[in-house]
Amino acid sequence: MDANNPIDAADHTTDSRYGDLLAEVEAMFDDVLEKATIDAKEDLDRAYARLLVLTNELDERRITEGGYGLSTTAWLQSTCQMTGREASGTVKTARALAHMPQVADRAVTGEIVMSGVKLLAMTRDRHPDKFADHEAMFVDIAMHGNPKDLRIEVSEWEQDINYDEALGSAEYDTWGREVFFNQTYGGRWNMQAEFGVADGHVINTALQSYIQRSYINGNDNTSIYERLADATIAIHQFWLDHNTTIETSGGNKPHITVTVPYDVLTGAKRQLPELDGYTIDPATLRRWSCDAGIVRIILDGDSQPMDVGRRTRTIPPALRRALDQRDKGCVWNGCQVPASWCDAHHVIHWADGGDTNLENCQLLCRKHHTWTHQGRRPRPLTPREIGLPVPVGTSDAVSNQHRSTSSQHQPEP
Ligand SMILES: [Zn+2]
Ligand SMILES: [Zn+2]
Repeated sequence: MDANNPIDAADHTTDSRYGDLLAEVEAMFDDVLEKATIDAKEDLDRAYARLLVLTNELDERRITEGGYGLSTTAWLQSTCQMTGREASGTVKTARALAHMPQVADRAVTGEIVMSGVKLLAMTRDRHPDKFADHEAMFVDIAMHGNPKDLRIEVSEWEQDINYDEALGSAEYDTWGREVFFNQTYGGRWNMQAEFGVADGHVINTALQSYIQRSYINGNDNTSIYERLADATIAIHQFWLDHNTTIETSGGNKPHITVTVPYDVLTGAKRQLPELDGYTIDPATLRRWSCDAGIVRIILDGDSQPMDVGRRTRTIPPALRRALDQRDKGCVWNGCQVPASWCDAHHVIHWADGGDTNLENCQLLCRKHHTWTHQGRRPRPLTPREIGLPVPVGTSDAVSNQHRSTSSQHQPEP
């Protein structure tokens, strides 16, 4: 480093406040670090209460309205960089806190945390007349219980004072639901949804069960968001693969139709396949066309249907059962995904002349099926997996005992 260079000097000396903080934190003993973390959260809670008191005063004096023609909410958004939701929540909570003196007393000291203040403010807004009589009780629970205790207490109190209203609100919770699922201009899909407590619990249980299982595959560094996305796709695909009751109006089971020139499918022609007018990854097309449950319509150069016989390349139920029996699950080395979640993969793709029989097919989970068609390969089998004697003193990290250990089942393109 050149000490005369002002940029270097700025990066490595006291001018870096983060650098100073990091040095301070790294030097802390464990117990000091723990205490400092708790203190920082209390500072945040105290600062939040202070923000509420200031905001309410600002609001009552109508300063922003008179001065700039802005509501307090709009002013918080533009001046304090709050989101609309954050700003309106802050104003509502600030106004409610002004009517909850006992809560405010403990909020400014940090004894009632932010989430508690917000919950009590909403409760007070719903029952402005009755709240004051029970404020002392809520303060006690908010100070000594956890957020869940407070939520339960509020709920029970609201049921006591007006059961019908509480029931109505619970019914509304179930009734109120929506999913926004739109295709963007570029063809990608955007999903946003809201569900009630119980329905969301069902969905979360399904998603988590998929995600938990995928944790079994160690050294997987996909993010939680990618895992949730994978789980969402897999659950929908599972429905298409296993649904035997619901039919569309045409009398068919729901299915995906992709129309693709034959030489695009085989890769003979360098052209991206299309779905709904958008181009898709060729590996996805080959993965889809590998498995049963996808109806294939093969057209010749003049867009005329070419060969219905190709449909026999879907995996017949008997072959699928035999594959389930032999492979038990994904044959990717080390993968634990069970058979019911797997695709049947043609080792040599039927479009390249591969047969639809036990020798040329194998089970792969969706991720490893995708990887296989993208040309990725699993790690080599360990001696134990191949069935050779394991040299003394070595540990084969992942044993895959419930699988066939024959190397002939390793995925091929
Ligand atoms: Zn395949
Ligand atoms: Zn797998």
